[in-house]
Amino acid sequence: MGCDGGTIPKRDELVRQKKKAEVKDKNAANMAKWRYCTLKYDALKRPIVVDSHGLLYNKDAILEFLLDRMQFENGPSYVKKMKDVKELQLTESPEFKSNHNDLGNEYLDVYSSPFICPLTGLEMNGKYKFCAIWTCGCVLSERALRSINNNSSEKLCCPKCGKEYASNDDVIILNPENEDIALMEQRRQRLNASQKKNGSTKRKTSEIEEEESSGKKTKIGK
Ligand SMILES: [Zn+2]
Repeated sequence: MGCDGGTIPKRDELVRQKKKAEVKDKNAANMAKWRYCTLKYDALKRPIVVDSHGLLYNKDAILEFLLDRMQFENGPSYVKKMKDVKELQLTESPEFKSNHNDLGNEYLDVYSSPFICPLTGLEMNGKYKFCAIWTCGCVLSERALRSINNNSSEKLCCPKCGKEYASNDDVIILNPENEDIALMEQRRQRLNASQKKNGSTKRKTSEIEEEESSGKKTKIGK
């Protein structure tokens, strides 16, 4: 038993250990995004909402934020009304529920998630990519969504509730990382551009309607 306690770790071993610790920290920070409200850092509890950046909040926190923005220094400036967030339809993990029932509200195991993908059963704990469909609010793993809606010529339907949605721009990547952050940014730009376009056509229609109604009035008047 020569190795017991008596060995001095070599430098590269120490570096390896440090790296391991860093990865662990990063993992913990990543897990936290899936478990705590972005605004108030409370544990996420239904009703939970997502914003256009894919960040998760307790609905109550967003309501508080909208009532008094000054209270929150780091609030999402782009969330201006309740319609700027979407309430999520989450699938509870039966396993998590039975394991944590006796523990009150404290979740002891950071790696287990209260929510899962309804199709694949993957846990929503930050290890796998998860998406929400803005139209219906359903939350699924990207794997499930991609396997169902891979044929772009077919209608896009939510695999959970069956509701149709218009395009892939209705899909929000939750807590996006790396290249997905850019993808979500591009999505917002596309939506902003189309909203501006729709806004101007809306104005035009209302103008036309006004003209029509005023024309009717003059007709009636004559
Ligand atoms: Zn749905």
